[in-house]
Amino acid sequence: MLVGLLYLLFVALIALAFPEFSPIWPSAAVAMFAALMGGWRWLPGIAIASWVGNDLVMAWSTMWSLWITLGNILGPLMSTLVLRRFIPEVSFALETGRGVALFGLLAVLSSAISAGFGALATTLDIRPDTSFNDAFFSWIISDLTAVLMLTPAFVLWWKDSREPCQLLRGDPEMWLAASTLIFMTSILFFIPSTDATSLLRTGTFLILLPLVWVALRFPQRSTFTLMSVVFVLSMLGTWMGKGVLTELAHPYTRLQIILISMSLITLLVSAMSLERRRVLNVLSLSYATLEEHVKERTQQLSDNLNYLEMLLDNVPVPMVITRPDQSVVIYANLAAADYGGYPLDRMIGSSSMTYFHRLEDFQALEQKLQTEGSLNSHEVALRHRDGHTLWARLSAVPSRYNDIPIMMFAFQDISQAKQRELDLEQLVNTDTLTQVATRRHFMQRGNEVLLTAQRSEHKLALLILDLDHFKAINDTYGHPAGDLVLRSVAEAFRASLRPGDLCGRLGGEEFGVILINTDSEAAQSSAERLRQLVNDLCIELDGGECIQPSVSIGGVLLLPSRMALLANPSLDEAIAIADQALYRAKNTGRNRVVFAPPLAFHSNSTPSKQD
Ligand code: GH3
Ligand code: MG
Ligand code: MG
Repeated sequence: MLVGLLYLLFVALIALAFPEFSPIWPSAAVAMFAALMGGWRWLPGIAIASWVGNDLVMAWSTMWSLWITLGNILGPLMSTLVLRRFIPEVSFALETGRGVALFGLLAVLSSAISAGFGALATTLDIRPDTSFNDAFFSWIISDLTAVLMLTPAFVLWWKDSREPCQLLRGDPEMWLAASTLIFMTSILFFIPSTDATSLLRTGTFLILLPLVWVALRFPQRSTFTLMSVVFVLSMLGTWMGKGVLTELAHPYTRLQIILISMSLITLLVSAMSLERRRVLNVLSLSYATLEEHVKERTQQLSDNLNYLEMLLDNVPVPMVITRPDQSVVIYANLAAADYGGYPLDRMIGSSSMTYFHRLEDFQALEQKLQTEGSLNSHEVALRHRDGHTLWARLSAVPSRYNDIPIMMFAFQDISQAKQRELDLEQLVNTDTLTQVATRRHFMQRGNEVLLTAQRSEHKLALLILDLDHFKAINDTYGHPAGDLVLRSVAEAFRASLRPGDLCGRLGGEEFGVILINTDSEAAQSSAERLRQLVNDLCIELDGGECIQPSVSIGGVLLLPSRMALLANPSLDEAIAIADQALYRAKNTGRNRVVFAPPLAFHSNSTPSKQD
């Protein structure tokens, strides 16, 4: 109904302006708008308005009015049907370059249909003197101009009726562009016709500049509204007999051709600019989303990293990371600091060697890591800050951090187990009565000492010491007294020997001693000293009696030499030789020392290890 009234309003205005024959027809824009936005529903209003307008206002005959009305309805309707086949939402047609091209073509189709009907009516009814072509051309131009210049504004105002116009929001640039456009249009179309130089006429197209400016920078509705303003102003000026075109023949036709071209260009620029802005929006939106994702991910990673660091710091296993190229600790966790008793901050940057008792142990570990690359459950003695030994089972794997080679260590504290093991070993290796080494341990250690001596060419002396007439002591004073004598003698041996010398109980009242780094002379005097020591003992019994034992000693000097030919002497062989010397000592009166000839053997050979 409303569109019908609008249609009629335009008809009335045009009829007032052009009582004879109207060269422009804005109602066509209303009809097109009604078809596009309302389809079938709005067309009856347009049909009635068209019929009323033509019959009553324009004074056509009823029959031809109905005929023209048919053309006015059919044109927009068919165009709309075609448009909807391609673009379901009609207003989108103005938002893309393709849509605008289609809209332009359909505007031509619509105008052509109503122009066909109209031209036929003109030539047959009102102006039989006019040629069909002239009537058709004039009709199509006036319809097309109106459709292209006004319909877009109608469509967008209707669609976005709730949104305020950019112009009304007072954007200074918009004001500048709009006033430039209106100013230029006014200059061109309201100057007295006599002043209209041909130069100004050719400048008509300059109106395009502010139009394109608006199309590029502002929403479509503002652009199309200003297009309508140009339409109204230029038509008004021309109708008032002013402006650049008035003096020329067919001013309306000229004006409308100019307006058609300008509107097509503006519609295209506006649609393409909108497309571009949309793409940019999508891009900036996806950029923002991407940035948000990156931020989230970075936060997640840093959270994970913090979590990992927290885990590593607090894991109840001592862990240390070093730079093997500099032998420096670069990371230690709380358990590691706790284990070694060192303050955590002092561990970072400290030398790895700090944590070993002996430089040799540290070097051996480094050597092993160099040859094997990693370690698995390697037993090592470390140093607690307070000086006591920490036994650890150590695993290590190499890695890289910031392109620097690193070594990651994990420790298992085995100090307690190790201590138990050492205690047990001590228990097993120590003779309970005399507290010297058992025969088994003496043999084992003795063979090791022999091996070292062979390698380092150190001289050794082996002594076998057997108490004299011990059976008689037992028999005279009793077994416990014999035990006391054994303990006292062993105690005397232990007290007199150097650290590194070995002493063991080989049998009942028989002891073995290995003196390290000892030449013939020192061996003789040491043996004599031991004999004298026993001889000087006075072992007091409970009854006040004193037992004075004596000992016979058989000895042999072991001389590792590169010149020697004998290879592989075992401790057993050496003992056998010393035993023979002992036998001679017994036979020659006891309480004396007898040495067998020195035993020279090849120092480079490795003796077989015997127990
Ligand atoms: P010889 O001078 O020729 O060596 O005479 P001996 O009596 O010392 O040697 P013999 O081998 O005849 O006797 C050794 C004795 O040592 C025999 C054994 O009863 C005694 N004996 C062995 N072990 C122990 C012990 O643990 N405690 C005590 N009290 N006596 C022991
Ligand atoms: Mg004896
Ligand atoms: Mg004996």
